[in-house]
Amino acid sequence: MKRFKGLVKELLAALVVGSGLAWLTRVALWRDRVAVLLYHDPDPATLDRHLTYLKTLCELVPLTDVSAPSRGRRRAAITLDDGHAGNAALLPVFIKHNVRPTIFLCSRIVGRNRSHWWLHPGSLRAGHEQLKQMTNQQRLAALAAQGYQQDGDDRATGLSLEQMQAMRAHVDFQAHTRFHPILTKCSDAESATEIIESRHEIEAMLQQPCEHFAYPNGNYGEREVELVRRAGFTSARTCDIGWCDQRSDPLRLPTIIIDDRASTLRFAAQLSGVALFLRYLKAGGGWRGRFPQF
Ligand SMILES: [Zn+2]
Repeated sequence: MKRFKGLVKELLAALVVGSGLAWLTRVALWRDRVAVLLYHDPDPATLDRHLTYLKTLCELVPLTDVSAPSRGRRRAAITLDDGHAGNAALLPVFIKHNVRPTIFLCSRIVGRNRSHWWLHPGSLRAGHEQLKQMTNQQRLAALAAQGYQQDGDDRATGLSLEQMQAMRAHVDFQAHTRFHPILTKCSDAESATEIIESRHEIEAMLQQPCEHFAYPNGNYGEREVELVRRAGFTSARTCDIGWCDQRSDPLRLPTIIIDDRASTLRFAAQLSGVALFLRYLKAGGGWRGRFPQF
């Protein structure tokens, strides 16, 4: 079944690329703007293949280029969410392709023996999707019943301090809350603490300015945008679909989500945003490519 699904995905990707749809979105939508690509935990060989292909289409730029004037060329910025331990193995790929990605860190998970909540076996037992729909307190109680404490030492799933120190010359580390809650399911106080403190904690941990934020799971509302502004962040990346330029709202930057394991053909198709758009549409996100909020 899994192999069949994989085959269907490859065929659909061949359709998006072969029909000219991928080319059309490059010309009509991407144009001279910045595609902010979102990865999580890709393996080095896959990312290497993606970046090799990407460089045939556009220039690779840092995330801060979204607010720079266009130079008349398509551009792409690489972002990775959560600060997965596996990201450390990507350093030679970043160096090889001369790309400076932004890694958004959960400030109370990385650098410690802690696990991202959805990577804990207890989360699998409780059901990821059900957990996301709960209030923050309910989610934490359900996880505690399965043996997960967000501030308890467990096995490390995030980057260690030594790994981040080794990567920092080639990677921009920024904030992705403290524990990765679903912000829209948090109380006012919880949301404020998660956003504001994550900035201070990244700055204290790495002794560098932290100015960029990414909303966990793509969930945010007006309250979160205001808190991000109040915390002093200059940009925040969403999971809404789109390409960025100087006119983009810096606190609602759109993105193109890439499957960490995508073949190069599927990667080429995913750059069009078409599959993501249809997925969001089906889930109630509407016609503007908004991540379906709950
Ligand atoms: Zn995340």
